[in-house]
Amino acid sequence: MSESRKPDAPLPTLYLPHGGGPCFFMEWPAGLAGAWDPLAAWLRGLAASLPSAPKAIVVVSAHWEAPRPTVTARPDPPLIYDYSGFPPHTYELRYAAPGAPAIAARVQSLLRAAGIPAAADEQRGFDHGVFVPFLLVAPNADIPIVQLSLVDDLDAAAHIAIGRALEPLRHEGVLLVGSGMSYHNLGAFMRPGASPGAEPFDNWLHETLTADAGARQARLAAWDQAPGARLAHPREEHLLPLMVAAGAAPSDPGVRTFHDRIWGTPISGYQFG
Ligand code: ZN
Repeated sequence: MSESRKPDAPLPTLYLPHGGGPCFFMEWPAGLAGAWDPLAAWLRGLAASLPSAPKAIVVVSAHWEAPRPTVTARPDPPLIYDYSGFPPHTYELRYAAPGAPAIAARVQSLLRAAGIPAAADEQRGFDHGVFVPFLLVAPNADIPIVQLSLVDDLDAAAHIAIGRALEPLRHEGVLLVGSGMSYHNLGAFMRPGASPGAEPFDNWLHETLTADAGARQARLAAWDQAPGARLAHPREEHLLPLMVAAGAAPSDPGVRTFHDRIWGTPISGYQFG
């Protein structure tokens, strides 16, 4: 641990872009190659930027929706290769981070204390919204991870409330991460050049997240009124992990810690606290 670390400080929360499929672990054709390198480098540096090493991580991935917030509760989560059309070797990626049943129980208890029904899944493992970025963030797989689902009604305010309920984790050495993408109109994203809605929505996101935290939650809850909102997120499952991360830091302005153009489209990552 470097001297600049502050082991007593609460951990920040993070909203990180997790790329597309196993994008960091394959060769892209000429013209597309290299696009993911800056994001990969940023993910590799994330752990060293934290005030202290987390004892566990709770990850809200865009790729799991359930009727109520649900945690992975098994100690040995397998991987779910929930992408298609990628090279065979990407279905052999391994990430053996342990689960953390006690943290899973703590998450459920915090949610229930806030009046939010919660559940545990004893079977499910980590989807690619977890293992793809965390192969870079924590490559030794030595930090236990609990995955927390989205709620399938996709209600923004409800996800902010979920984050709010989980704020105490930040004081307990548990890192809360929202794993999604700040722009997720895949058809537009895959075509080189300007993606519709990308610039105005990325600008709105920056203004909203870095301004006064007091006004942030109401603006986020009405995200679909933002310029370019439905062009950037025709369906909002990749945005909602942000709501949880922001909700868990209600008095901390956000800081944009990642910003790059990937195939011409601005993509951003944020930290709160
Ligand atoms: Zn995704």
